[in-house]
Amino acid sequence: MLVFARMNRILELDIENQRAVVQPGVVNYELTRAAEPHGLYFAHDPSNWKSCTIGGNVAKNAGGPHTLAYGVTTNHVTALELVLPDGEIVRVGSKHGDAPSYDLTDLTGLFVGSEGTLALITEITVRLSRKPEAVKTLLAIFDSVDDAADTVVDITARAITPAACEMLDGWTLRAVEDYIHASFPMDSAAVLLIEVESLTETVAAQAAAVTEVCNAHHAREVRVARDNAERNLLWKGRKNAFGALGRLAPSNYVLDGVIPRSKLPQARATSGKSVIDTAFRSATSFTPGTATCTPSCSTIRETPRNSSAPSKPPPKSSAIASKSARAYRRARRRHGKIRTYAAPAPIFG
Ligand SMILES: Cc1cc2nc3c(=O)[nH]c(=O)nc-3n(C[C@H](O)[C@H](O)[C@H](O)COP(=O)(O)OP(=O)(O)OC[C@H]3O[C@@H](n4cnc5c(N)ncnc54)[C@H](O)[C@@H]3O)c2cc1C
Repeated sequence: MLVFARMNRILELDIENQRAVVQPGVVNYELTRAAEPHGLYFAHDPSNWKSCTIGGNVAKNAGGPHTLAYGVTTNHVTALELVLPDGEIVRVGSKHGDAPSYDLTDLTGLFVGSEGTLALITEITVRLSRKPEAVKTLLAIFDSVDDAADTVVDITARAITPAACEMLDGWTLRAVEDYIHASFPMDSAAVLLIEVESLTETVAAQAAAVTEVCNAHHAREVRVARDNAERNLLWKGRKNAFGALGRLAPSNYVLDGVIPRSKLPQARATSGKSVIDTAFRSATSFTPGTATCTPSCSTIRETPRNSSAPSKPPPKSSAIASKSARAYRRARRRHGKIRTYAAPAPIFG
């Protein structure tokens, strides 16, 4: 087994040229922390940016909330040092190169996303981005998941490109709120976290345009984060969604489905309905930037919080229910009593 945990040094911060050279074990967020005093940051930020490594990001060609405006890992990598299977050390790309490609002089794009199958990555040169002049983070609150999903489709259709646009359904946002206290309204069916950034005037215009689309799709309210502390708290909520769901259920089955943005409402509805009659609940978050829909199927049951009544397996009304009843019994044998979670508002249907 190969472990890169000790290869965790930032080798160079080239502020003038907006480049950093790092070892693969550097944690993503640490690079932004190091660059921030110089007005720069590493724009690629997967949800687990405080624990994942840049080597892992490169191996997976990971995306993240800000992919919508800034692209995936490959758009930020300009050069790599690699160790090939026969032990040869090679360098691909160049420090000052632009986007990686597949041409014969620059094979960087071939290795980004190769999941460790072609070579070991031992050094990475990445592009650093300049902090935008202005940022606005909006939280749009909806009473229907379909309205939230339609809003995402419409924002794209109107050629508005926010820096980030994330959706959490009711189950997810309630789990997050219980854990992080990010001021997500517990009685809503879905929220959209939308960020716009650019020059001050552009940001004001984009925020107004986004608000207009949200209102056209019946947003109950559109809030704007008042300062950095509020903005960071909203993002902390989004980025801890999986951790929050993990507090509610002994086992979670997480899927990443890639779907066209225009099919978001249907994908959401199908993933919700497929588990509605079972002991399971599906909590869904969307990252429209990468067009991913992430239903997390959990052994969360819809019973009153703190109920002392023992959890019962679901009725065997259908094939899927009987399958889930067996899974439920297996989960109970393995994990004991399953934690229950109240659903204050109907989410599906
Ligand atoms: C809570 C959570 C949130 C996530 N959010 C996102 C998200 O928003 N967007 C997204 O795209 N993905 C996301 N992911 C998945 C994801 O892409 C990563 O976790 C991350 O990019 C991988 O980094 P890591 O340090 O965890 O890598 P690891 O899990 O350690 O490794 C990932 C793979 O890369 C290989 N690898 C690692 N280092 C090297 C190296 N130096 N050379 C060659 N191969 C190597 C490993 O063998 C393995 O196959 C998330 C995962 C979790 C658990």
